[in-house]
Amino acid sequence: MSKGPEFYFPAPRRSNFCGQCGTPITRRTPPGDNRERDLCEKCGAINYQNPRMVVGTLPVWNDHVLLCLRAIEPRANTWTLPAGFMELSETTGQGALRETREEAGVEVRLGELYTVIDVPQVDQIHVYFLAHADNDQVDPGPESLQARYFPIDDLPWDNLSFRSVSTTLKHYLSDRARGRFETRYYSLPPMT
Ligand SMILES: [Zn+2]
Repeated sequence: MSKGPEFYFPAPRRSNFCGQCGTPITRRTPPGDNRERDLCEKCGAINYQNPRMVVGTLPVWNDHVLLCLRAIEPRANTWTLPAGFMELSETTGQGALRETREEAGVEVRLGELYTVIDVPQVDQIHVYFLAHADNDQVDPGPESLQARYFPIDDLPWDNLSFRSVSTTLKHYLSDRARGRFETRYYSLPPMT
């Protein structure tokens, strides 16, 4: 697998100004806390920052897996499972279905939670659900150059987008071969 920016870009989360009152922020450890935060000396607001969720599906139809050819960076022109950043006010499953709809134009039935993957070096958690499609119709959105169902024995292993995608697909193939699927939780080590 080729190297490069292998993860969804973290969006800029640091701000130079308080989100409550607009005062320039200070970086220091608040009393009683154990790490540095962005805080406002004027109004006392603390801008806590936390990891972000990437949610997606592994859609299956008739021994085929749905993949999307990315139209955008990072990793444009590589194949990915439909996934993206979870939005406010939605559930994990709703986010996974929304991303599948947006990137592939496909309505799937949500199956079991399948992989939960920590990527602490970029402050992300990637979550994939198994999903089932009723046909092979696709209608890729603007973030995808193509959406296509690949036969499970002919996946584009040399041109996958992210390690969370390739490891999720590897688990799927091995679980499928042994006839038993289980939810997996693991971490991706930093790239060397
Ligand atoms: Zn403030």
